[in-house]
Amino acid sequence: MDKQEFAAVKAQFTPWLTRLSGGQVDELKAELAQCTSLADCIAIIEERGAKMLACPDCDGVKLYRHGIYYGLQRYRCRQCHRSFNALTNTPLAFIRLREKWLPFLQCMLGSMTVRAAAEAIGIHRNTSFRWRHRFLAMAKDDRPQPLGGIVEVDETYLLESQKGSRHLTRPARRRGGKSSRRGINGEHDCIVIAKARNGPACDFVTGRGPVTKAQLHRCLPPVLAAGVILATDGAAAYKAFASEAKIEHRPVNLRQGVRVDGLFHVQGVNHYHSRFRNWLLRFHGVASRYLPHYLGWLHELACRRISKPQQFLRAALLPAGI
Ligand SMILES: [Zn+2]
Repeated sequence: MDKQEFAAVKAQFTPWLTRLSGGQVDELKAELAQCTSLADCIAIIEERGAKMLACPDCDGVKLYRHGIYYGLQRYRCRQCHRSFNALTNTPLAFIRLREKWLPFLQCMLGSMTVRAAAEAIGIHRNTSFRWRHRFLAMAKDDRPQPLGGIVEVDETYLLESQKGSRHLTRPARRRGGKSSRRGINGEHDCIVIAKARNGPACDFVTGRGPVTKAQLHRCLPPVLAAGVILATDGAAAYKAFASEAKIEHRPVNLRQGVRVDGLFHVQGVNHYHSRFRNWLLRFHGVASRYLPHYLGWLHELACRRISKPQQFLRAALLPAGI
């Protein structure tokens, strides 16, 4: 709306203001707050649009603006003639109620449960669940640049969970859930975390059962900078991986009670493990297939120290690499 139009609307509206009750003023305020939220939300979505250099369908680079649809700029590709917007082909493409996205992300910053977030912003709990995972599906790829210096690597295990699944592939566990066998086995999901000393962390769900050398080869090299020194416990998989990948390795022999060997220890990564496990407790168990989402969520809170919903949306829409 241009200045003149706004002045005309305001002039029409002003005489009515003194006749509003307190409740009506509050209602209007809430309405206006939603407008701000929607405007902020669309501006952030369009930041992604401005960075889109190619058609999501055919990778054609000759694009032109093609009107505005539901508040979002549409683009058209000269090569395949398809039109698209900044959210096309993303998990957020068909989510409505954009005025509630930022308030919802505010709830996620507070690590609220599905139900609490649904109540706070007035959406159905199934919608709240779906939104959580749509936002996290994008944010989970928001990871730091390669880790450098001393990098602590260690794994932690969680009992696999089929929470929410209609068809269990094993008999249901009774109350609390315990593995049917002792020790770490194929009933446990393995999470490997690599953490630079006093710096960012990367995480990987490597699969079921103890971590293997082959899994470390798949996960670690892409996130490690040249010349890193790996600090791990004495597990054989790390030793074998480091020697084959020709990475300097300083194992700490925890079994023999050695916790710190000069600069080399795994206390930072172990602290991150326990933070993750404690933070998960509020959700009363999470399904194995969503573990990468929850790791991504904690990463945004703990490593990126995101404190505003706008930052969260930006991280979801513009993860590293876009
Ligand atoms: Zn195209």
